Amino acid sequence: MSELDPNCLFCKIVEGKIPSRKVHEDDEILAFHDIHPWAPVHFLMVPKKHLTSLAQVGPEHAPLLGRMMTLAPQLALKEGCRPYPQGGFRVVVNTGDDGGQEVHHLHVHVFGGPRPWLKG
Ligand code: AMP
Ligand code: ZN
Repeated sequence: MSELDPNCLFCKIVEGKIPSRKVHEDDEILAFHDIHPWAPVHFLMVPKKHLTSLAQVGPEHAPLLGRMMTLAPQLALKEGCRPYPQGGFRVVVNTGDDGGQEVHHLHVHVFGGPRPWLKG
């Protein structure tokens, strides 16, 4: 995996070249609000290193993906999702054209908040 792709939107956000509303940052992961939210809570979690999509992951990425998945519920609550089971949240990883992926830097969508939502 290359570190950063100069033509990648989310790499530019990681670098701070494009502003974002940050939800969380650590050594490996950045989370920020989606610019076009579909739900009352809608943020994205991205690895800081460029990784094109979930289709490119291998066993070496298991710790990173594990960290992202275990961080999601913590950040969902912090951002205002109500607790499980009445509340909860949705986690989505669009992958490739048929998967509806528009930005080709792996990202995890986290949606939540009271329904109805704009989509879904
Ligand atoms: P996907 O279709 O899964 O590739 O989703 C890409 C997401 O990135 C969409 O929900 C966009 O609204 C979001 N997005 C695009 N540009 C930005 C940006 N500059 N800051 C935050 N979110 C963005
Ligand atoms: Zn990137």
